[in-house]
Amino acid sequence: MTETITAPATDGTRDIDAAARDLAARMPASLGVLATIAYNYRWSWHPGGPELFAAVDAERWEWTNQNPVRLLHETSSAALDRAAGDPGLIERAQGVLAAIEADAARPPFPGRASSTRPVAFLCAEFAVHVSLPIYAGGLGVLAGDILKQSSDLALPMVGVGLLYRQGYFLQRMDQSGYQHEYWFPLDPERVPAALVHNTDGEPLTVRVPLRGRDVVVQVWRVDVGRVRLYLLDAQRPENSRIDRWITGRLYVSDRATRLAQYALLGIGSMRALDAMGMDPSVVHLNEGHAALAPLELARRDIVAGAERNAAFIAARERTVFTTHTPVGAGNEGYDPAEIAEVLSAFPEQVGMDFDSFLQLGRTRPDNPHEPFVMTPLGIKMSREANGVSRRHGEVARQMWQSLFPERPADAVPIGYVTNGVHVPTWLAPRMRELLDRYLGHGWIDRAADPDTWQAVDRIPDDELWSVRNTMRAEFIAYVRDRTIANRLARGEPRWYVEAAERGFSADALTIGFARRLASYKRIYLLTLEPQRMERLLLNTDSPVQLVLAGKAHPQDEESKRAAQGLFAFKGTPQAAERVSFLDNYSLATAMQMVSGCDLWINLPRPPLEASGTSGMKAAVNGSLNLSVLDGWWAEAYDGGNGWALPGDIAFDHAVQDARDAAVLYDLMEHEVLPLFYARDTRGVPVGWLEKVRASMRTCGPRFSAARTMHDYIDRAYALTRSTG
Ligand SMILES: *Cc1c(COP(=O)(O)O)cnc(C)c1O
Repeated sequence: MTETITAPATDGTRDIDAAARDLAARMPASLGVLATIAYNYRWSWHPGGPELFAAVDAERWEWTNQNPVRLLHETSSAALDRAAGDPGLIERAQGVLAAIEADAARPPFPGRASSTRPVAFLCAEFAVHVSLPIYAGGLGVLAGDILKQSSDLALPMVGVGLLYRQGYFLQRMDQSGYQHEYWFPLDPERVPAALVHNTDGEPLTVRVPLRGRDVVVQVWRVDVGRVRLYLLDAQRPENSRIDRWITGRLYVSDRATRLAQYALLGIGSMRALDAMGMDPSVVHLNEGHAALAPLELARRDIVAGAERNAAFIAARERTVFTTHTPVGAGNEGYDPAEIAEVLSAFPEQVGMDFDSFLQLGRTRPDNPHEPFVMTPLGIKMSREANGVSRRHGEVARQMWQSLFPERPADAVPIGYVTNGVHVPTWLAPRMRELLDRYLGHGWIDRAADPDTWQAVDRIPDDELWSVRNTMRAEFIAYVRDRTIANRLARGEPRWYVEAAERGFSADALTIGFARRLASYKRIYLLTLEPQRMERLLLNTDSPVQLVLAGKAHPQDEESKRAAQGLFAFKGTPQAAERVSFLDNYSLATAMQMVSGCDLWINLPRPPLEASGTSGMKAAVNGSLNLSVLDGWWAEAYDGGNGWALPGDIAFDHAVQDARDAAVLYDLMEHEVLPLFYARDTRGVPVGWLEKVRASMRTCGPRFSAARTMHDYIDRAYALTRSTG
């Protein structure tokens, strides 16, 4: 590399190093290595990484939400001394650190992206790890997986998001199944983050004009392997109490605050990168929230003397936009007064009168009644736009066709890059170990290659079945424990708590359904025919157990009511032993569920599931999908790798629901259960395992984040071009 460093780095490198040194100084000397590892989430997807911290103090590891910084701060000195005196542990830690350092020393991905001209990936939420609760659901999980995969590919990328001082809400269900929310402060000093300082040793800050004044933001850096995630934070003494609240909560309910968040993310991200000496070669807007970013790039050029049109063209040339949802609430509209209040002078600064600015956020610019929506702005201000599955690409082209009145829907310039999951993150250690034995050395680096996964056919039945049995048994122990704790906390009657203690079996077909409780996910289909559901649950020859989880948006009363329907079977003793709703769905719960369930169900109303990713996580772990032919499953299902419900778009929702519930129960009764319980003389379900192999072989490579990132790099980022 010919890059020269012209000024002392203000990108937070020194701050992260100092934080790790400070933590190490509090430890017995031999544990310094753990403090270094703690400040880069790379450990979380290195085999044996999480186990290092668990070995220090297993109970506190869970207590702190698997937060290595809190663990090392809070664990007793007795536990620290014990760990420091464990040569095996220290040796393993040194091995992990050496691997992480070797990973960091690899040459960067070839092309015009570099550490000073990175791909900037902007998103309102990032699900990097359960210990950093700044995510709500699938969008954040995808963003986290993209950062990790970019690190694995050595792609020079930085993520930029917001540091929500109260994160996302925590969920507590009451006895009636009604959701209650509460918030818990996120202390940035107690997560693996460091406040970025400038060369004078002062916190590096940038100003963003909002509501007619400047809001000052500081920047936290979180290391995700080779990729840095920068989080903007309005918790500054210069800001009023109200302005500090802008980065209070993810998807906060107040509209003006939410709009201010998006402005902070779009404008503030570009200013913060500039202040840290970075000029992005590509700006990837992951969903519309950050869509003001290209306008800020244009503003900068205009200030430097560029003509407005040229500045806009240059900004568009750098920008890539991904739309993630065909659901109305994901494409929220703002009226002119709201835009004027929050953005005040910004339109003027990009050389536009207010009306022309409003037109940028409309599909029909001259319709004064159309609200300002970030998605049209993102599409107009980007060089490439895409949906997140083949089918969602089609849906998005129709949805935004009015932006291109001269074109038919199939010629609308919105493509697709199907989502994928970061395999090293989502593969349970036991399945990883099995695949390591059969897929060949270094297979994880070839996870996007279909040939790599052909080798699952060589795994013998008994070995595959034994691993699946162990994974289910460990999951069921977890479900039992969590269910008892949840029922006690809800104040349930003793018999119901004890039913959980006796109930749940390590051998029964285990069905998982977990996702955001949004109406279009149709969780209520599970109980639309209560008698058939009850028959399944009460059947003792081929037992079935059901594990559910998910959060409804605090304002989504309809979904909260639908979730209550799931508690309808509480009164039936056998059902109390076989159905559990796990409170507070998180990355950690998801990890348990996708690795321990045999069957993963998804029931979205077509065409509203843009992609869906939890089924991909289940597939790589050897679980089978039963899902509507929408989103990723419309692309993945081949007749032999799982089960499908129709994906047609219906106008009579009640009729569609009744039909789909019937199909769901028919499949369960006539296909899923018979196949799972058809055993050979050794007790092995040979036909089931054949499907498991087909599912892993077909879904593993195509729905890995490695394939997703290769698509982004090839189709959208155009990194090999010399200009930009
Ligand atoms: C994977 C994941 C999601 C997304 O699941 P979908 O299948 O897209 O509904 C949401 N939340 C968590 C915690 C996840 O891990």
